[in-house]
Amino acid sequence: MSEPSTESLDKMWKFVKGFAEKSGTIFHPNRAVTEAVVNGLAAHVDDLGKPLCPGNFYTDKQAKAKLRRWICACDEMQIYKYCHCLWFVREDGMPITEYLPDDHEGRQAYGLITDPTPDKGRAFRHKASRHGQLSAEPDKARAMVESKQASTP
Ligand code: SF4
Repeated sequence: MSEPSTESLDKMWKFVKGFAEKSGTIFHPNRAVTEAVVNGLAAHVDDLGKPLCPGNFYTDKQAKAKLRRWICACDEMQIYKYCHCLWFVREDGMPITEYLPDDHEGRQAYGLITDPTPDKGRAFRHKASRHGQLSAEPDKARAMVESKQASTP
């Protein structure tokens, strides 16, 4: 990955500060973690025009950058308040897993970690699945959930 431009770095630092405040999280207390994520996102802004999450492997970054799902703040953050990059976390540096489906890898890795600011964040909380489909097969499951919501009187 190439070195990000100063302009994109500034943009991502501004974003992280604003989104952390809005979502009731902080950025990771280990500065090296936060800087690695900021650098990755800023490099994606330079290369793809969008802050595609740097914490995933993509076979086709250009295609993924056209979808909303992994554009920061990603769907997992907006639905479950879970950041697998550990960029947006609690004060103790732990990711919030409280809202994740039981079978989600984050829940299995970290156990149940509560949200200290439940009144903030989760703008897409209405998309949360009660049965864990989003974690099992996210794009297909989300389409299923949305179609069920659309057909509910
Ligand atoms: Fe952003 Fe989501 Fe990646 Fe966290 S996991 S850095 S919220 S895109």
